[in-house]
Amino acid sequence: MRAAGQRGSGAAGQDGPGDGSEGRKGAGRGGRGALGAPFVQPGPDASNPLHTQPIQFVGSFPDAQVKVEPQLPEIAFIGRSNVGKSSLLNSLVGQPGLARVSGSPGKTTLLNFYRLPSLYLVDLPGYGFARAGKGARVGYRKLVTNYLRNRASLAGVVWLLDIRHQPSADDLEMQQLLAASGRPVLAVFTKADKLTRSALPPRARELAEALGLQQDQVQLTSSRTQLGIAELATSIVAASGGEDS
Ligand code: GDP
Repeated sequence: MRAAGQRGSGAAGQDGPGDGSEGRKGAGRGGRGALGAPFVQPGPDASNPLHTQPIQFVGSFPDAQVKVEPQLPEIAFIGRSNVGKSSLLNSLVGQPGLARVSGSPGKTTLLNFYRLPSLYLVDLPGYGFARAGKGARVGYRKLVTNYLRNRASLAGVVWLLDIRHQPSADDLEMQQLLAASGRPVLAVFTKADKLTRSALPPRARELAEALGLQQDQVQLTSSRTQLGIAELATSIVAASGGEDS
């Protein structure tokens, strides 16, 4: 706490120990106390159409053809374990605790449904978990293939790839499955904050080329800096047939 106070003062020499009154510039301006504004501003982003809507967790289901009421368009999220899917979902809806961000990925084989007024966000289980046995892989493939191919209310798929890595064999297998499903797909490159500003555009082009994708099929994002999150939210609303389409 003390270190943060020192770093956040922004006025060296003014708010050392004992002179609290002089060192309260931040508090005077924003009323937030001696630390000033938080590093990443929480709260609704007016440019993100999903931040202004109520969201509710519906349930986790092992069945790709589960009936959920009311029937609404679904936007599904899929990617390799640890790609940043839970973090992205939380950023998209502006609720840090909605989907569980995990340090030990790949345990779930359930479809998680989140309801917004006019669509569902469907969190599909992550793939490529190294420790998954053959049985689990077969079960996973069956569940996800069935959902992607046959789900009547599926309006679009957000496919996540870590900007830093070349597509894995699992990613390429998923790409084939997505292509075969005939669904609208938006590729999202995650963790863009891990690259420098100058390295980002060439790397995004390189990865898009490796996947045979055009630039307009790709969205760069960072859940840490919120880069591209509002744009992705707008694309999701449009893909679901919402007002912004
Ligand atoms: P999931 O397994 O795909 O749901 O991934 P998680 O959202 O649980 O994230 C996996 C790890 O990546 C966690 O340690 C997150 O903190 C980290 N992570 C997720 N998104 C980002 C991002 O945009 N930037 C950075 N630097 N780390 C991220």
